[in-house]
Amino acid sequence: MSTVASTVEIPAGVTLPIYMDNHATSPLDPRVLEAMMPFFTQKFGNAASRNHSFGWEAEQGVEQAREQVAKLIGATAKEIIFTSGATESNNLAIKGIAEMYRERGNHIITQATEHKAVLDTCKRLEKAGYRVTYLPVKADGLIDMEDLKRAIDDKTILVTIMFANNEIGVIQPVAEIGKLCHERGVLFHTDAVQAVGKVPVDVNAMNIDALSLTAHKIYGPKGVGALYVRRRNPRVQISEQINGGGHERGMRSGTLNVPGIVGLGKACELARLEMDEEAKRLAGMRDRLKAKLESKLDYIHVNGTMEHHLPGNLNMSFVYVEGESLLMGINDIAVSSGSACTSATLEPSYVLKALGLGDDVAHSSIRFGLGRFNNDAEVDYVADKVIDVVQKLRELSPLYEMVKEGIDITKIEWQAH
Ligand SMILES: *Cc1c(COP(=O)(O)O)cnc(C)c1O
Repeated sequence: MSTVASTVEIPAGVTLPIYMDNHATSPLDPRVLEAMMPFFTQKFGNAASRNHSFGWEAEQGVEQAREQVAKLIGATAKEIIFTSGATESNNLAIKGIAEMYRERGNHIITQATEHKAVLDTCKRLEKAGYRVTYLPVKADGLIDMEDLKRAIDDKTILVTIMFANNEIGVIQPVAEIGKLCHERGVLFHTDAVQAVGKVPVDVNAMNIDALSLTAHKIYGPKGVGALYVRRRNPRVQISEQINGGGHERGMRSGTLNVPGIVGLGKACELARLEMDEEAKRLAGMRDRLKAKLESKLDYIHVNGTMEHHLPGNLNMSFVYVEGESLLMGINDIAVSSGSACTSATLEPSYVLKALGLGDDVAHSSIRFGLGRFNNDAEVDYVADKVIDVVQKLRELSPLYEMVKEGIDITKIEWQAH
């Protein structure tokens, strides 16, 4: 690994470190915190307490949040179930539907670049006797609708395909998938964690039967999320995964996290009101970052189609630099790399590999996740810093030298050692 010293100046108004990893989690919006505060103190009641005002107050907070969540995705309040986050929502939707519709069939369709909360849930169901099809994605990150059409058979009960990818920001053709599923009498669940509050989501127009979302990716608190479950055309049933007092219409028992739920509701309301403008601002910053990098660096490319893309996402590969050295060089900027830490080893991202990237290129990729609290000055600093570090690392790279000299490095026979 190489280390390089960067000499980029820190512009006025920029404080280090810079947070640009908003797909991993987002800071709490102060307005969300303000809405939550009373529910930690005076309004501490249990939303299930039916016979005093402490309970009613808490319940009121919860029911208002249910309306706020529903409104953001075009659902009705009764279709919203509160959970501990999207991992639980995905588990509840997929296992809950699989169990409930077991007599109708045992086949589930998903795709390769899903979040682990979906993939691992599907693997678990395979052990329990379900059949799961994992669709590949094309080089641009999108599934092929023809693959999906072919995969549906008379035993298919569920299609679960994410709305927008958390690494490459690619938005799947959700409305088309929903339409196809409804024509074929198959239920459609989508992990919409990265899409909700960032791009328009409408469960009716898009024929979505179940949808997972979480607060902490939309400037709300961690540990709270929701599952939308369709009640009409068709009425979707799920079997509960947590048994207890029958909260949330029996689908998710456990005392409700009232302050968290109120925070999720407020985060959804803010997103609904500000999404259009915010998306424009984020896309503007994202394009500015991309243009700056592309103006100064060669052998870089964007991962995932830019045509169907989240406004705040930019995933780029910087070929001929070592990923670890690059990350070290920009360690005053919080971003994610194309490496996933599994135990002691650095594994290349399975999402980038599914697009056809080699291990080296996957490792030298960076996910920039722009969010509500980033600004242009930060974007400029990040661009300058990345450019500086990549250029310095390439000066040290014999591979880059050879490529520049026009040697076809794919034809070199490396000596084994
Ligand atoms: C973050 C994330 C999840 C997990 O959500 P939690 O609320 O943290 O459990 C699931 N799916 C996607 C696409 C995500 O980005």
